[in-house]
Amino acid sequence: MDQISTLTGEFRDKTRETAFQASRLTESRRHARNLFLLSAALNALFLLSDWRFAGTPHFSIAIPARVAVISWSLVCLYGVRHMTSFAAVERICFAWQIVTAIGVAFLVSSRSDIAIFVLVMLPLVFYLVVPTSFRGNVGGGLGCGAALLAGYLLPAPASPTMLGMALAMAILHCGMWIAVARMNRLQRLEWTASREAQDARAAQARSLDTLERIFATIPLPLVVGYRDGRVIRTNAAAQRYLADGTGAPLASTSEYYVDAAQRAAMLAHMDSHGGAVDSFECRIRNPNGDIRDVRDVLISSRSILIDGEDCMMSTLVDITHRKEAEQRMERLAMTDALTGLANRPHFLAAVAQAVDATTEGRGQLSVLLIDVDEFKRVNDTAGHDAGDALLCAVADRLKRSVRPGDLVARMGGDEFAVLLTRLRDPRDLDAILSRMTATLHAPLPYRARTIECRVSMGVALFPDALLPDRGCAIDELMKHADIALYEAKNNGRGRAVLFEPALLESWQREARMLDRARQALAHGSPEPWYQPKVHLATGRIIGFEALLRGTHADGGPLMPADVAAAFEHAELGRAITDRVVDGVIADCRRWLGAGIDVGHVAINVSGVDLYDDGFAERLLGRLAEAQVPTGMIELEMTESVFLGRNADSVGRTLHRLSQAGLSIALDDFGTGYASLSHLKQFPIDIIKIDQRFVRELQTNPDDAAIIRTVLNLAYSLGIRTVAEGIENAQQVDYLRAGGCQYGQGFYFGAAVAASDVALLLGEEKLPRRTM
Ligand code: C2E
Ligand code: MG
Ligand code: MG
Repeated sequence: MDQISTLTGEFRDKTRETAFQASRLTESRRHARNLFLLSAALNALFLLSDWRFAGTPHFSIAIPARVAVISWSLVCLYGVRHMTSFAAVERICFAWQIVTAIGVAFLVSSRSDIAIFVLVMLPLVFYLVVPTSFRGNVGGGLGCGAALLAGYLLPAPASPTMLGMALAMAILHCGMWIAVARMNRLQRLEWTASREAQDARAAQARSLDTLERIFATIPLPLVVGYRDGRVIRTNAAAQRYLADGTGAPLASTSEYYVDAAQRAAMLAHMDSHGGAVDSFECRIRNPNGDIRDVRDVLISSRSILIDGEDCMMSTLVDITHRKEAEQRMERLAMTDALTGLANRPHFLAAVAQAVDATTEGRGQLSVLLIDVDEFKRVNDTAGHDAGDALLCAVADRLKRSVRPGDLVARMGGDEFAVLLTRLRDPRDLDAILSRMTATLHAPLPYRARTIECRVSMGVALFPDALLPDRGCAIDELMKHADIALYEAKNNGRGRAVLFEPALLESWQREARMLDRARQALAHGSPEPWYQPKVHLATGRIIGFEALLRGTHADGGPLMPADVAAAFEHAELGRAITDRVVDGVIADCRRWLGAGIDVGHVAINVSGVDLYDDGFAERLLGRLAEAQVPTGMIELEMTESVFLGRNADSVGRTLHRLSQAGLSIALDDFGTGYASLSHLKQFPIDIIKIDQRFVRELQTNPDDAAIIRTVLNLAYSLGIRTVAEGIENAQQVDYLRAGGCQYGQGFYFGAAVAASDVALLLGEEKLPRRTM
């Protein structure tokens, strides 16, 4: 709906109209003042012209009327100065109009030519010039017109044109009405437009101000600049962040890139990604070039057009602390906490890098895997603090014994590793390893005691002419070092072994044996079979040796040689012994229950059983539980169990079992490295002469001499003897003549299943099922 009245040209809304008038107060006042001044001045001039009426009756009307108009105009001129509202201005204008209209009505009664002109002119002035509202203009105009017409026409004689004049006046007033309404309308439209323009300008200024304040207070450094780097604007955060201490504003962004190429790379990225780049990581420095103040930042940038020029707006996020933290975490993740050495992932990464470099033809490298011998014992006997001290000492000694640039790492537990790079000649290794061993093997003083420090080392070279697979990857190289270490540990410890293909073969052989043992155990096939032992003088069976028998996964017979490595394996060895002991005890229980006298039963045990301090009690507990007399059980072990540091444990176990009534037999006597003193040191009841000496007894005088010597030795020490591997009567005769009490061999019978033992005892001849 139109907000402006068609009739008056004023705002329909009173408040708006009041606001409009109020906005024009100064102008209206000035207008009124000019009007009053002009009125006074012009009427003063007319007063002079009124002298022409001197001597006429009109003179006495004209002069007072003119003087009244002049005086009143001057009064209004004075009064309008104090008017502070449009209503007041309008009121004074009204007052002026009334007095002026009445005064001029008297003046026009002269009916002069000028009177007619004034009759038209003065209402026009009231309509168009007096600064009042529509009501004032039209009211004043009409009132003035009526008063003048009355003043002109009323005095006698009546004018013949009276009616015509009245009509002409009416047309004039209608026209003026329309003119005033139109003028009002135009003024208000103009006022509205200017007000809107003003409001828009104010809103624009406000939003610019807001934007400016937002830009200034964004806590992220913000830089607006041309593509060539020249800076247009920076916000406060950017000014602070990039302050170079001189207070000079940043002139160009290219000043702060540490590497100018990074800026070029960022621009190239923007160009290929629609003018945008996010989180572009780069390094910046203080614009004054202070290289100590290098920071890592993420820059995000957008292209913008400013005044038609290609510009960019960028934010900078400082990630210096984050990067430092990441690097710290990375270092921590790559370091062993106890020793401060590199850890396994770090070492493997370094090996990978070194292998790459070596593959490209730069020298030779070597990986050393180092295992602290008897570490568990140190931990168990001297405490974890001593264990930690030993590990730290090994770490320290290793670091001291390698060249700078070689990497020492702790792979976990008591295992260390060294990566030797820049190895000119593999023959240099000997010297390096001797130096390392000498340094490492020095005893370690620890809290008024001395901890022995010995290590085993496995060494692998890359590339190595011995290795068929020259391009072997890190896994292969580490595996080779591991196999060499395994060999070092299994063959005396305290030494270094260099990997060679033969080791791989024996390792693979062993691995196959362990696999077979695992499978056999999983499928429950291993069980003890029994080979008879015979009293050579009487030919009577005096007991049996329990030997492991089972079935392969493919159904074929499983013999001890197929799983030999498993006997010495920490877990598998114990599992096999458990299985055999269970079987033997169950069989003994059955035979005892059936009243069958099988004599004694010998069980083969290995190092892993005897090193275990709980073995003796467990075995005795099981025998007691099954009510199998301890005297019925014999234990066979080879001399190798006395070698090494676990001899103490072995001694404790054997004495305990011997005291409990078990017999102890030394198997394969003469083939190991045991000292004769072991025969006194440990409770040995029986020596089993190895079948290698028995086999060629008749043809090899050396073997015969050895047998005689062993028999004499045993006789002197009061130890009984069993000859193994007897295959013919001549061997029996020789052994019996030499004083050997017992014999065992295919001549008397191979191992039989438990179910056939009774049969064998009854018939005392070879049964059908043997292995
Ligand atoms: P060993 O304890 O010396 O057992 C004697 C080995 O000689 C047995 O081989 C037996 O079958 C074989 N033998 C017996 N008489 C003759 C003969 O007249 N001629 C020939 N050529 N050989 C004969 P087997 O059963 O293959 O056992 C081999 C080795 O495996 C055993 O040697 C023993 O050290 C070990 N072993 C067997 N069973 C077990 C077991 O349950 N636990 C452990 N730890 N080791 C076992
Ligand atoms: Mg044996
Ligand atoms: Mg033997």
